[in-house]
Amino acid sequence: MSRAIRPTTIGAEKAPAQEQFLNVLSREEAARRFQSHLPMRPLGEEMASLGASLGRVLAQTLRSPIDAPPFDRSLVDGFAVRAADLAAASEGAPARLALNGETIPCGVAPTLEVAPGTATPIATGGPLPRGADAVCMIENADPDGADRILVRRALAPGQNVGFAGGDIAQGETLLRRGATIGSREIGMLAACGVAAVPIYRRPRVAVLSTGDELVQPGEPLRPAAIYDSNGPIVAAAVRENGGEAIVFGAIRDEEEALEAALRSALASSDMVILSGGTSKSAGDLNHRVVARLGAPGIIAHGVALKPGKPLCLAVADGKPVVILPGFPTSAMFTFHDFVVPVLRAMSGLSPRGEASVEATTAVRILSDLGRTEFVMTALTRSDDGLKAFPLAKGSGSISAFAQADGFLKIDALADHLNEGTRVEVTLFDPEVKLPDLVIMGSHCVGLELVVDALADAGLATRVVALGSMGGLAAARRGECDIAPIHLMDPKTESYNAPFLTPELALVEGWRRMQGLVFRIGDARFEGRSVGEAVEAALNDPACHMVNRNSGAGTRIILDRLIGGARPDGYWNQPKSHNAVAAAIAQGRADWGVAILPVARAYGLGFLPIGEEHYDFAVARARLDAEPVRAFIEALRRDDVLRGLRDIGFTPAADAARAGVR
Ligand code: AMP
Ligand code: MG
Repeated sequence: MSRAIRPTTIGAEKAPAQEQFLNVLSREEAARRFQSHLPMRPLGEEMASLGASLGRVLAQTLRSPIDAPPFDRSLVDGFAVRAADLAAASEGAPARLALNGETIPCGVAPTLEVAPGTATPIATGGPLPRGADAVCMIENADPDGADRILVRRALAPGQNVGFAGGDIAQGETLLRRGATIGSREIGMLAACGVAAVPIYRRPRVAVLSTGDELVQPGEPLRPAAIYDSNGPIVAAAVRENGGEAIVFGAIRDEEEALEAALRSALASSDMVILSGGTSKSAGDLNHRVVARLGAPGIIAHGVALKPGKPLCLAVADGKPVVILPGFPTSAMFTFHDFVVPVLRAMSGLSPRGEASVEATTAVRILSDLGRTEFVMTALTRSDDGLKAFPLAKGSGSISAFAQADGFLKIDALADHLNEGTRVEVTLFDPEVKLPDLVIMGSHCVGLELVVDALADAGLATRVVALGSMGGLAAARRGECDIAPIHLMDPKTESYNAPFLTPELALVEGWRRMQGLVFRIGDARFEGRSVGEAVEAALNDPACHMVNRNSGAGTRIILDRLIGGARPDGYWNQPKSHNAVAAAIAQGRADWGVAILPVARAYGLGFLPIGEEHYDFAVARARLDAEPVRAFIEALRRDDVLRGLRDIGFTPAADAARAGVR
């Protein structure tokens, strides 16, 4: 941010343009200091009706006000009897009992005593009449005329009887303080007649995002703006951990606006969670405003963590105030690491139970020395147990959360983890469902159609975008089932097959038309041949290109088009078709090469160059595996083929029919 800051009016400090994180604390020390300033216990109690107590935490141990059941009752349909009458009953010598003149359904108190030699018909749940001490199941009695029964089995006293208080006795503990109330607990409380329960008050947590660039979901995205994702994810995580989120939306990077919002947030809540603006650069004024909200102020600013170094922990008048780093991944890791323990303590919840699994790292993972590093991890099954894949996404990533099963931690003192290291992966969801099919390699929108078809068939697929080369390596190592690739071999001018090693087979996918992409109406390109268009671009010094990363098939095409020329924009080398199209659509560049569906999606002009083959490398050993077969079948399904054509792809089968190889 380059915007100037207004001078601070309170305090003598002058903000230099770029402060450094001089006092970076270890993760443990930062957490210790933060918690030492906080009460770390529930805030108070309130009463809730039984129905409204679901998910809440019980503030007092509850004892039963009654016996449950409240009276001796029958556990079966049958006859209330005196066990002594049946002591000698057997198949050969059945006992004969006279029926009393009443039947006891549920909810009706008996009037007649069960005298020796008699029995009273009784329903499950019916109160046992005086005199009776057992119930003979209806299955074990036969009618003997209209008013007698024959019983062919002996019965012990107490058999088939639920005694008063046998379930819970009056005064017995029903639920302990700190229990989370779920449906089963509600059932127990209801059975004892409890209509209202004391619960802990939920901490009110104000959630604020900061940044001039933020737009709320649902609103149109202006140029250079992004959606506020921290606000909603923090609010949801607050609720998941026992808090009540008060959503303030996004506040602009203006000192007065921020201070006003923060003061009102602090006054109306028990905890304040901000995100963004925590780096110590000009424009990041949040920590300065937070510092003067109340005593003792900032406890830690800068923690030896990755992601999450700029985390700022403060306490104002006894209330925690936290500035999470702006990048969503950093925000979530630091939230879970530092805020969740505090929030759960304040809401009376027990510390979050974290499920973890053992896995071995599939690749070598580099790490920063001196910072505890959290690495988002995808898990796959392999012959020797679970494999952990680091999801190589920056902390700006929001998709990694959806792809990851959990994360692994690299100690601050390690600068890498070797491939094959045993690690513990903390799971985001304890019920992690490992995918049936793992796809690693180059991503394509068309792939989603195939994956959707598999999902309809009940197969869970994980797609990890590693690029064509990364996918091939993973397939060779047996770490994935399928590797989508689109690699052109300049020598043979053919796609994909030249890159296979003997253990890999090729399953054909579809063709993607690549072309020169430009803004519609640009006379340098529109209506020209590709050759003319490139010449016009190279002859215009004001014309900017956008290149592709080396290794991309598209890059080979680009290199051919421009020969040895190095026009402006040559060093802008993004890794995807979408990034190329976005750069052109937004005017950052004027031309580049991308595939037709992406050009269309961005409303760009398109001069076709040639078709790229997007195929699948499959380990031969896996060709017969059920999920792989299902994938190959899905590739041939009519609706999938139709979908591919609709997006603008040519299924390989169509190309073969047209005689194109
Ligand atoms: P900052 O610390 O404010 O410079 O933010 C660092 C990065 O995180 C920038 O790219 C911000 O645009 C991004 N960021 C900040 N707040 C949010 C938010 N609420 N949602 C999504 N991204 C954000
Ligand atoms: Mg910001």
